[in-house]
Amino acid sequence: MSVLDVHVLGAPILRQETAPVTTVTDDVRRLIDDMFETMYAARGIGLAAPQVGRPERVTVVDVARDKDPRQPIALINPEIVLQEGSRRGEEGCLSIPGVYGDVERAARVVVRAVDRDGQPFEVEGIDLLATCLQHEIDHLHGKLFIDYLSILKRRAALTKWDEQKSKYPALTRVIVPVSVIADRPDPEDE
Ligand SMILES: [Zn+2]
Repeated sequence: MSVLDVHVLGAPILRQETAPVTTVTDDVRRLIDDMFETMYAARGIGLAAPQVGRPERVTVVDVARDKDPRQPIALINPEIVLQEGSRRGEEGCLSIPGVYGDVERAARVVVRAVDRDGQPFEVEGIDLLATCLQHEIDHLHGKLFIDYLSILKRRAALTKWDEQKSKYPALTRVIVPVSVIADRPDPEDE
């Protein structure tokens, strides 16, 4: 398994529609493994294939707080089949480091997807998992959390991003595993 580079805001692939996976091949399983490794290294709670430069409709999530035990969920071709309620929560994104914002989303969702063995399954997400699933599925359709911010808040977020983005001249971010970083701020990145 390897830790992949994460594409950051401005990389065209983050705004592109993904392609549904027709057959779950070893290549797709390797992508899933690498995405988990990248997400854990970055201490994120979700990661979508376009964030690592891949066009497949694939995402991984794990909202377990301390990752012990881990609760990994890999979703291929995920679709929200039910959503209800609403919940406001602070979101961040591994592709927009240092930028956070409150987003209102459904408080509960049921998502239908295919697993790494090609089998269909459904997962119910409540609260943080619901937010995370919606955030990741948005990525698979070229949508980012900042799109939901009010004009003023989005402008502030983009100003903040302008100060950061010179750190990523190639529009990619090399993930340094968290074990070698001392401390990090709390909000989850997805
Ligand atoms: Zn994200």
